[in-house]
Amino acid sequence: MYYVVCSRCSFVLYAGERPIDVMRVLAKYGDKCPRCLHRLSTEPKRLSVSVRKRSTPASR
Ligand SMILES: [Zn+2]
Repeated sequence: MYYVVCSRCSFVLYAGERPIDVMRVLAKYGDKCPRCLHRLSTEPKRLSVSVRKRSTPASR
């Protein structure tokens, strides 16, 4: 699962099986976290959201 969460309040903006364009997720919310109204940014050095990928045990 992939998660896009607010770095401030950990609100889950997106959770899904597939990776998603963070820009599209933020646009959907108007670039603001709906819970804490923190302004979200996708600037690489100031990423306000984090994309997490569930680490699956290596199965080689
Ligand atoms: Zn938030």
